[in-house]
Amino acid sequence: MAGNSEPLSPRAKLAVTAGKAAAAVSRAAGKGSGSVIGGKVALRFDPDLLARLARHLDVVLVSATNGKTTTTRLLAEALRANGPVVSNALGANMPAGITSALAGGSDARYGVIEVDEKYLAGVARDVAPKAIALLNLSRDQLDRAAETRMLAEKWREGLAGSEAIIIANADDPLITWAASSSPTVVWVAAGQEWKDDAWSCPSCGGVLQRPSEDWFCGECGFRRPTPTWALSGDHVVDPYGVAWPIHLQLPGRANKSNAAVSAAAAAAFGVDPKIALERMYKVQAVAGRYDVVTFRQRELRLLLAKNPAGWLETFSLIDGPPTPVILSVNARGADGTDTSWLWDVDYTRLAGHPIMVIGDRKMDLAVRLEVAGLQFRVCADLDEAVRSAPQGRIETIANYTAFQDLRRRVGN
Ligand SMILES: [Zn+2]
Repeated sequence: MAGNSEPLSPRAKLAVTAGKAAAAVSRAAGKGSGSVIGGKVALRFDPDLLARLARHLDVVLVSATNGKTTTTRLLAEALRANGPVVSNALGANMPAGITSALAGGSDARYGVIEVDEKYLAGVARDVAPKAIALLNLSRDQLDRAAETRMLAEKWREGLAGSEAIIIANADDPLITWAASSSPTVVWVAAGQEWKDDAWSCPSCGGVLQRPSEDWFCGECGFRRPTPTWALSGDHVVDPYGVAWPIHLQLPGRANKSNAAVSAAAAAAFGVDPKIALERMYKVQAVAGRYDVVTFRQRELRLLLAKNPAGWLETFSLIDGPPTPVILSVNARGADGTDTSWLWDVDYTRLAGHPIMVIGDRKMDLAVRLEVAGLQFRVCADLDEAVRSAPQGRIETIANYTAFQDLRRRVGN
């Protein structure tokens, strides 16, 4: 049960204090929030700290290739209807960052935790979550389909003995495969736009059949489970068949899907879908994403796209031509240092838009756009790109570290 009935041990308290001190030093040195270094120091003092901190909370974990930060934010808002929430809202989603976030929430009743896909099984073992929400799995950067399949296998093994309620997207065959070893699963028909990674059966390697929204394997019988929750247009349909309207400030179908999964997860904590969805409306931007900022007297909307599935979702959000579009791509550590994923993205969706290209790897992107037959202009930096952009609000799409560069430049 939640609450602070069981205080932290002296060792755990010391670990939290040491972590906070390290974070403060890191902040003072101008190195961001310091939450990751703080968490690392704290875990060195007390390797079981994450488990200890989580013991006082009702925890829900959120993992996926795309949408986990947004879903974590939506779900945190929904659960606040029932009590105080601690969350790694800034997206530090590996064990050190998670530890640091939980250490800052001693009064919380709920922990809403985004977890990097590779760490999900381990974190789930440590924190004994009450629920786990799984949205989608697709290739990220250089990962190939086989690696995504291996990740699903790791989840499947890791979650097999879990007592958590798994809230899983039944429209994603890999998610279904990963979740179906768990004793308690709530299936949500949350949709799947990116299907390139999901044509072969995760169970036997056979070809998946996809008549309408259903899917099944003709060879081994593995098939889409019957969902109890569903995203249907602009509504979430609950297990009683009641359709609740989704009103979000966040744009796009992907975020409606995130809201549907969040509503199903919130219900596992006793939050009514009506209340959950009303609270989700408050979320305006998530770690700078979707934010509209003013820069050099122009309006820019900041959009993040980290991998092929993410770019596809992002293209569906932008206003049509002649809306100007700035694209920025880097290939630093966190992005993956190889840019061959650019060839998996269908950039012809941008035909007709004035396109400006920036970022460390603007030449790689330029080659890709050239082959796609698009008109574009390569610019030195954001300032030149904004100066070159014709009238109207500018859609700015960037991958991970390029997005961080953008936020710094526009002071957001
Ligand atoms: Zn099969």
